[in-house]
Amino acid sequence: MATKEDFYKILNVERNASDAEIKKSYRSLAMKHHPDRNVDNPVAAEEKFKQIKEAYEILSDPKKRAAYDQFGHAGVDQSMGGGRGGSGDFGDAFSDIFGDMFGRRGGNGGGQQGGQRGSDLRYNLEISLEEAVAGTEQKIRIPVLVTCGDCSGSGAKKGSSPVTCSMCHGHGQVRMQQGFFTVQQTCPTCRGTGKQIKDPCGKCYGQGRIKDEKTLSAKIPAGVDTGDRIRLSGEGEAGQMGAPSGDLYIEIHVRQHAIFKRDGANLSCEVPISFVTACLGGEIEVPTLGGKVLLKIPAETQTGKLFRLRGKGVKPVRGGPVGDLICKVLIETPVNLTAEQKSLVEKLDESLLSNGKHHSPQESSWISSVKNFFDKVTG
Ligand SMILES: [Zn+2]
Ligand SMILES: [Zn+2]
Repeated sequence: MATKEDFYKILNVERNASDAEIKKSYRSLAMKHHPDRNVDNPVAAEEKFKQIKEAYEILSDPKKRAAYDQFGHAGVDQSMGGGRGGSGDFGDAFSDIFGDMFGRRGGNGGGQQGGQRGSDLRYNLEISLEEAVAGTEQKIRIPVLVTCGDCSGSGAKKGSSPVTCSMCHGHGQVRMQQGFFTVQQTCPTCRGTGKQIKDPCGKCYGQGRIKDEKTLSAKIPAGVDTGDRIRLSGEGEAGQMGAPSGDLYIEIHVRQHAIFKRDGANLSCEVPISFVTACLGGEIEVPTLGGKVLLKIPAETQTGKLFRLRGKGVKPVRGGPVGDLICKVLIETPVNLTAEQKSLVEKLDESLLSNGKHHSPQESSWISSVKNFFDKVTG
């Protein structure tokens, strides 16, 4: 057995880490390296994921952890038994994190018996914020290689069948003499399949698969966000020679909304209010995804103040409480004033100044900050 990496290192925790710390680190690492989230490099991710899972199995069990602390890997290796491998593990370890969203990984985790499994496909789906929040069902058309119907994927013309390759006699490999050495390589005639097609199918030209488009109906659960992926098992590219199909991953992209910005479960928006409402207080209408609601603006509200409307955000797809809508009020300076209005504003200004009271709450602290700044510069 190759030298193993330290379990604490794998989980990125100190040797005296608490159970809670270990669990927390395990969850975040496992999320990061879960093969379903690393579609670009699933084999490396799967290896890393197995390491993380193995380390967690030991360190989360007090008896095994004690044995490991005392004897290292030798203390726990036999207790591992045959419990490793088996890609069915992913579903079990993750049902509590991912729920049903990612489904289960098929039983063919990288296995390569027979023909090659079809490629996984990714489809970028753009949806509106409203659709992301409420969930939606979308028809999508995807280009795919599907098993040829005429030859049922064999590549041989109807009524004929592939024959054993005459060059490699069905082994798929041939031995070549190169100087003193004999090297084995993939048979160039059949490209490793061991079969030759004498009379190719006219529809797929012997490939066994044809290009097609298929329409799928994809259910997008409520609460998804940009970057979330939904797996449609077996809806990817058809496998070669009857091997299983790949999966289709639908990657969500939520379009920018004219009013709302999203940050996780929370939404935010900017709401302009008049100078008068800001001074005297009042009620304004603000938009939410569920319709308009009234928001009370207290008197003497300053620009930039945030108002939180509880429960008017998004219900996250992985569970948890519904987020809030955060409204930021922006006070608008009146424009296009008539001569009369200007003189009223001047009168107001005079009145504010003559009163002697402090009507601008930030002004004095700002002036003293500026004074300190210049004192430092010149002093
Ligand atoms: Zn065909
Ligand atoms: Zn061959």
